[in-house]
Amino acid sequence: QSQELSQVKIDYHAALQALVEDGTKMVCTGRIHTERICRFESLCFSTEAEEFVFFHSNASFLLPNLGSRRFQPALLDMSSVEDHNTQYFNFVELPVGALKFMQKPVFVPDVSLIMNRFNPDNLMHIFHDDLLPIYYTMQQFPDLDLNSRLVFMEGWSEGSHFELYKVFSSKQPLLREQLKNLGKLLCFTKSYVGLSKMTTWYQYGFIQPQGPKANILVSGNEIRQFTQFLMQKLDASVDSNSEDYIVVFSRTINRLILNEAELILGLAQEFQMKTITITLDDYSFSDLTRLISGASMLVSMHGSQLVMSIFLPRGALVVELFPYAVNPEHYTPYKTLANLPGMDLQYVAWKNTKLENTVAFPDRSWEQGGIKHLDKTEQERIRKSTEVPRHLCCRNPEWLFRIYQDTHVDIPSLISAIRAVRSKPLVRKVKSSSVIYPGKVRGSECQATVHNTHKAKLSVSWQVPWNLKYLKVREVKYEVWIQEQGENTYMPYILPHQNYTFIENVKPFTTYLIWIRCIFNKNLLGPFANVLVCNT
Ligand code: UDP
Repeated sequence: QSQELSQVKIDYHAALQALVEDGTKMVCTGRIHTERICRFESLCFSTEAEEFVFFHSNASFLLPNLGSRRFQPALLDMSSVEDHNTQYFNFVELPVGALKFMQKPVFVPDVSLIMNRFNPDNLMHIFHDDLLPIYYTMQQFPDLDLNSRLVFMEGWSEGSHFELYKVFSSKQPLLREQLKNLGKLLCFTKSYVGLSKMTTWYQYGFIQPQGPKANILVSGNEIRQFTQFLMQKLDASVDSNSEDYIVVFSRTINRLILNEAELILGLAQEFQMKTITITLDDYSFSDLTRLISGASMLVSMHGSQLVMSIFLPRGALVVELFPYAVNPEHYTPYKTLANLPGMDLQYVAWKNTKLENTVAFPDRSWEQGGIKHLDKTEQERIRKSTEVPRHLCCRNPEWLFRIYQDTHVDIPSLISAIRAVRSKPLVRKVKSSSVIYPGKVRGSECQATVHNTHKAKLSVSWQVPWNLKYLKVREVKYEVWIQEQGENTYMPYILPHQNYTFIENVKPFTTYLIWIRCIFNKNLLGPFANVLVCNT
């Protein structure tokens, strides 16, 4: 591997001098460890101690300078999975003087992104925890580009889909196990440590049962910018002109569909569409992404292959099949994905409700859902149970037993489930452009007329938001709240024009506060303008 770092020699003297004179420097974003990404100059890694090293000199700095709080519990998360105690980052400290007694450092001259992959053998984890976060961490910091070096510190070997990680850089990613071949003390000239969590939408159930993240910050637009980048790198052209077709994403090792031929025939006949089967074994990612990106429907057993729905075109339908006794509402990574704002996918879950249509494997190893290691009464309880109760990740034997069943899919019940969603209005092939919100209304004014000591009226007018003149908007309305000063209630109005005269409940010699905001197309709410104060 060392020829990978051949440029090292060129600047060796200067790099060593910078390290000895300036030591390590760190500046981070984020106020708490789960939100932090840090940028370092001269961050080192001792491959003997297997620890990162921060060299203190007179020129060193660390922001945040947390003192011992950086161990409570850590400086930051190295993977995008929040606050997982196997994924924490920290460093040990040494004075630069200690370098005199250490082996000569080897420098990594590329700007490096140092991080942990969470589970590089599982496709959902690869896309959701690693690839999307890598892409957007690189977008966040401009010196991370296609010439940067990815450094994977979690300690796994390449994993099953390493080619996907290679598209983010022209340079070979470094694995933790390779670092010791490079030297005893490796120093990264410029590096970032940590990953953005901005794009993740699912939590896997480490502290509460799995489900959508509490505060999802990503929309379909960002997912699709990522898929476009990836497809371009994989040389997969989108096949948009061919006729409609259905893709069945099949598993070959476990969680099988036992009547796949019947399923394919049934779908093809019912929807009058060509139906093709894909598997991770037989197709390259270039072919998989191309085929999925042209499909009208993707049908698959629950499982990580369904993360590939990110490649579906807008308007397509995701059909997720669940084995017997597995409640689709409790396992929603792909439903959550399909329903992200702007993802514009339809989603339907189908569940096997017939015991005679399931094939379970009690004798397999526990990881593959076997239950023979449990005591007899527990085995009996699990066999009789009709639904896996909610549980934490990751080794619940009842969950594994049920999710690794094979299923004979009841075609009529599946087709009626699909029909039920397909008959709903579909945004299919309608290109929803990116969403644009109104600005504030401007120039608001009020004029009061007092009729007598009991009656008054208040005329309010305003101008359209500044950005409206550049937009084509189907419908523009205004929401106006009128509040008597000092009262804690208000009356809301939805108005089609830029003026209105309030008559009801308007009293003379009173101060009113008027709040106005613009609404595009019924649901795009703009901000309220500064409050307008009116005296009658
Ligand atoms: N896998 C596969 N075919 C199979 C079973 C699994 O390609 O028949 C892949 C799967 O997509 C995932 C990895 O093997 O990337 C691990 O599968 P597992 O069942 O552990 O995870 P799940 O798919 O349930 O998330």
